[in-house]
Amino acid sequence: MTYEQEKLSIEAKLGLNTYKIAKAAHILPDQARCAVCRERWCLRICPGNLYSLGADGQIVLNYEGCLECGTCLVVCSHLTWEYPEGGCGVQYRLG
Ligand code: SF4
Repeated sequence: MTYEQEKLSIEAKLGLNTYKIAKAAHILPDQARCAVCRERWCLRICPGNLYSLGADGQIVLNYEGCLECGTCLVVCSHLTWEYPEGGCGVQYRLG
């Protein structure tokens, strides 16, 4: 990695990634369990900031930008989590 690449912000580095979007979500929150979850770590822990609350109060996940880091799986037992189907998902770029 060059000196100029090291100076990039996290947001800029994430912006270098490319994604091949799978047709189906590879992470599925269990909305019934999310509805009674007090911690809702997913809203704070995802480095891609991909979880949010919908107008109806349900957890919304924009799986298309997933970094496949697995952090949400570690902190939450209310998810079905798999890697995206073959050939899909994030492709990391160094710049
Ligand atoms: Fe966010 Fe990582 Fe979970 Fe993907 S695997 S949704 S990037 S925390």
